[in-house]
Amino acid sequence: MPGLELKGVSKFFGNTCAVETTDLSFPEGQLTALLGPSGCGKTTLLRMIAGLEDPTHGAIWLGDADITSVPSHKRKFGMVFQSFALFPHYSVRENVAYSLTIGGMDKSSAYEQANTLLDTVQLGGFGDRRIGELSGGQRQRVAIARALAQEPSVFLLDEPMSALDAKLREEMQVELRLLQQRLGITTVVVTHDQREAMTMADQIVVMSNGRVEQHAKPQQIYHEPANAFVADFIGKANFFDGIVKDGGVVIGKNRLQIDANFQSGSPVRVAIRPERTCIVDTPGDNTITAKVMFVRDLGPLREYHLQSDIGPVIAEYAAGENNPDLKAGDTATVHLPVESLRVFPQANAA
Ligand code: ATP
Repeated sequence: MPGLELKGVSKFFGNTCAVETTDLSFPEGQLTALLGPSGCGKTTLLRMIAGLEDPTHGAIWLGDADITSVPSHKRKFGMVFQSFALFPHYSVRENVAYSLTIGGMDKSSAYEQANTLLDTVQLGGFGDRRIGELSGGQRQRVAIARALAQEPSVFLLDEPMSALDAKLREEMQVELRLLQQRLGITTVVVTHDQREAMTMADQIVVMSNGRVEQHAKPQQIYHEPANAFVADFIGKANFFDGIVKDGGVVIGKNRLQIDANFQSGSPVRVAIRPERTCIVDTPGDNTITAKVMFVRDLGPLREYHLQSDIGPVIAEYAAGENNPDLKAGDTATVHLPVESLRVFPQANAA
């Protein structure tokens, strides 16, 4: 299965820039998630890959072939979009076999292939049912089987699980990921759900305002966000704005030591994940004093919401893991370890 490459691709709708000039590679056999808030350009990017939208500039390559001007139906990509658009009056098997019979395959071979695909998506035995007799998750699997019928070289999915409830969505994410890995098919998934991207993707492309903010493996995106936008969009983070001075950041009357090179006087935004903060007994380097506002017990996690001189802070602990015995109104000392602080120019902060 070949990989995909975007070379200098951009898209304008009139004067609106939906996608700025972008170079991206989607490696062979991997699943890439396009992630970002509404309107950031992820669907437009996917539609250009699908051939449903022409790039204003740039080229799209599949393996060693320039496919920029190849029409959508000749790209033979499998596509599953937000609305699955299944044929309600056809049976499940007929839905999956449709593109095969339209493509000239005889009916019995097409049905046989459809049955194999239904087994692949764990719907063997559902072939005779009508679409209306299926649950949301089963319909989604029919849509996937139908998209896979033509043995596509690339699989494109646009918010394929947005219609499913939270629990089913999580199950389908795992199922889809296992299927994709088994088939080894180059896949691009558009989502605005960071958990979905983290669950399924080999690599994540985080976008905002038509721009790629970061393109990296999920763990790298989480632990080494490229800028304050990514740190804020993926997972939770505490942020503090201050000015660099003598190797530290001055925030009001406080000073945090940082391990980053910025010119003195630069306005910066310091970020730390809630699980990297630590409530300690005694003040020391990089500690702040804070008042506990409330404690939130989330089952596997406990969150301490605090108000400090440098702003609100959330400290997060795994349940039972030396949870500090604090309640609303108590005073706490919070350690912000220098190695866990990420520092960004404020200009990059969204
Ligand atoms: P969502 O998550 O809401 O679907 P998205 O990240 O997929 O958003 P796009 O649909 O790619 O975003 O839209 C990116 C920008 O391009 C938006 O400002 C949108 O209004 C604009 N846009 C998209 N399609 C068109 C079009 N056909 N004509 C004009 N503007 C468009």
